[in-house]
Amino acid sequence: MTVETAVRTYMNLINGEWVSSISWLTFDSVNPADTSDVVGRFQASVAEDAVAAVEAADAAFAGWKSVAPSRRAEILYKAAELLEANLERNAAELTREEGKTLASSRMEVKRSAQTLRYYASEGLNVAGETLPSDDPTTFVYTKKEPLGVVTVITPWNFPISIPARKIAPALVTGNTVVFKPASDTPLIAFRLVEALHEAGLPAGVLNFVTGSASKTAAPLTTHPAVKAVTFTGSTGAGESIHRSVRLSTRVQLELGGKNPLVVLEDADLDHAAELAVKGGFELTGQACTGTSRVIVMDAVYDAFVGKLAAKAKALRIGSGLAAGVDVGPLANASQLDNVLSYVAIGLEEGAELVCGGERLTEGEYASGYYVTPAVFAGVTPDMRIAQEEIFGPVIAVLRAGSLQEAVRIANGVEYGLSASICTSDDTKMRYFVDHSESGMVKINRPTTGNAVNAPFGGVKMSSTATYRESGRGALEFYTRVKTVYHGIAPLKG
Ligand code: NAP
Repeated sequence: MTVETAVRTYMNLINGEWVSSISWLTFDSVNPADTSDVVGRFQASVAEDAVAAVEAADAAFAGWKSVAPSRRAEILYKAAELLEANLERNAAELTREEGKTLASSRMEVKRSAQTLRYYASEGLNVAGETLPSDDPTTFVYTKKEPLGVVTVITPWNFPISIPARKIAPALVTGNTVVFKPASDTPLIAFRLVEALHEAGLPAGVLNFVTGSASKTAAPLTTHPAVKAVTFTGSTGAGESIHRSVRLSTRVQLELGGKNPLVVLEDADLDHAAELAVKGGFELTGQACTGTSRVIVMDAVYDAFVGKLAAKAKALRIGSGLAAGVDVGPLANASQLDNVLSYVAIGLEEGAELVCGGERLTEGEYASGYYVTPAVFAGVTPDMRIAQEEIFGPVIAVLRAGSLQEAVRIANGVEYGLSASICTSDDTKMRYFVDHSESGMVKINRPTTGNAVNAPFGGVKMSSTATYRESGRGALEFYTRVKTVYHGIAPLKG
């Protein structure tokens, strides 16, 4: 006898109420490690739901911006506490929905709580400046004001930490929010919203709308009440938002990457191979800062490729919920097709597939999106696998004859998010830092990973060239400056 477990249906949050979509339609979030496992059922929202969410956020703005900053901070602290109180449930749901290992999910949930606390504290320091004035009867100063309704649209690969690092600075500075998560990971997004709601956010301050971007994105990004859009996802979708938003809408886009790790002759090759594996295969290669190219000096090329392949082959692939697993499944069917198609492209281009790149379909892998981590050697800079974002566990290893050539190759793509170098030579480190076209530079560290209190973002097609996310600077995106000239009557007598 099979026991049917009831699948819970989750609602949108609009104006403080958990409500169905007016379409009355739902969609399922499924486990990429076992597609017969339905994680939850969510509202298939349509344009009218999105408009209702924006209107609720707009109506709540005047009240929320007047709430004392310390009260806004208190709500973020409380939400952080709630996320951590449910750490194990939240991490397990994240893994079931997205596929990453339980250890990675735990880390992500904890980091999201840390982000809420960080902005609860930093939000209290948002301040203007006083300016010297030639006129003693005029006091000149600036004040920072919230923008209004902020739309938050996020991807599935960091489905709670990316929303947290957008929603927390938006709320603490007095903005109201409409949040649309990726359709592959609505449950963990719901948990974040639930925590903030239970922590005491007034009605309408945070609204949550699930469902396909094809139905909801236009009203969420172009409604006249929306004053800012913060988006993380593919470069294609980001460009489409950029083209469609109003002139008066502030936009922050965090997009793709093709991140290089440069390995010099003097590097510790074992450590370099570990960094490549961590950056390229952890999270099944599905990190925007993931290492997708390794550029290695001629003299150590063969030795490095041998070490990298050995480490890649030793990785244990399986459900992120199972103990001892290093690499989970890809997040969805289109990710699987995409990765397999790039493996085929690499072979057609004449690169040498040293290991991996195969779909696993037997036994425990039968109903999941599993691919073995792939290493391509003999890759040249013009090949598509060296230029295009694959967003999966595929590393292209290229050759260089000098540091200068390695940097030219590293910079020779349309992206510029994160770049790393392995060397023990300080002068070469410095050259790399100065010449790398990327928003983040790492030295003897993986291309992945960033600190909550440090700015995050890229150059070229990886980000809009305006505001950084994360860290103190992120608060700038959510506030505008008003300059005040305060006339002071001269002292009589
Ligand atoms: P995606 O397909 O662009 O989707 C991201 C989000 O945007 C989802 O919520 C999606 O909704 C929505 N969306 C899709 N098309 C849209 C459109 N035309 N207008 C408005 N919203 C739209 O990206 P993904 O596959 O989830 O994520 C992978 C990509 O994100 C990679 O390129 C990766 O590099 C990038 N990424 C960048 C960063 C960074 O900080 N730079 C971090 C993580 C990921 P639906 O799910 O309903 O389609």
